[in-house]
Amino acid sequence: MTGTDVTDLAEMPGDWQRALAVVAHPDDLEYGCAAAVAGWTDAGKEVVYVLATRGEAGIDTLAPDVCGPLREREQRDSAAVVGVDTVEFLDHRDGVIEYGTGLRRDIAAAIRRHRPELVVTLNHRDTWGGGPGAPWNTPDHLAVGRATLDAAADAGNRWIFPELVEQGLEPWGGVRWLAVAASSTPTHAVDAGPGLDRAIRSLLCHRAYIEALTDEDPEQYVRSFLGMTTSQASARFGGRPAVTFELFAR
Ligand SMILES: [Zn+2]
Repeated sequence: MTGTDVTDLAEMPGDWQRALAVVAHPDDLEYGCAAAVAGWTDAGKEVVYVLATRGEAGIDTLAPDVCGPLREREQRDSAAVVGVDTVEFLDHRDGVIEYGTGLRRDIAAAIRRHRPELVVTLNHRDTWGGGPGAPWNTPDHLAVGRATLDAAADAGNRWIFPELVEQGLEPWGGVRWLAVAASSTPTHAVDAGPGLDRAIRSLLCHRAYIEALTDEDPEQYVRSFLGMTTSQASARFGGRPAVTFELFAR
């Protein structure tokens, strides 16, 4: 964005205790917002990760039955680096996640289990960034991002998925905000500075994936990627490195 439509990013709300982050793949949160998560857990907040898949289709040279368990381990390690001990997998198939009531129900169930005030997901829109020629997003991110935004309402409605109540999952209508990381139209931000080193180490835990992705030295690649993304919005956030979110209040 240029010109007069540039507005400052607001600080993310801090008056909450529990957050649930729901994304499609191992590494989505580490590319997207781990520095913010590190800051939140430093402040004593509880953050839980839920992943729709184990990312088993993510490495060309590894068959899914080998890749899935490897990437699950990398995800658990990377979560621990930023203070997240609970990581759950919904066991949808990597690459072919379908948006629909099954996915909404699985995410609504996770919201009811963990009763978050803040729900975080990753960019659910067609492209990364705005404007002509912005890189195309993937169908898994679209499906999971949109289903997560929808499931926050489903979680609070006793009659949408009555089978969840039968399983002992009472409605949870306490989600106050939905935050979309890596949105092309962010409204809010978290200072990435205090958590940046841990965010780098957290993303580096996805070593098998990164080594398959790039010939660059993994640490150099991760430092330059997170340095670039967190500095992009700093002009709108008092010059501080920022993890940005598009925030929807409920
Ligand atoms: Zn992904």
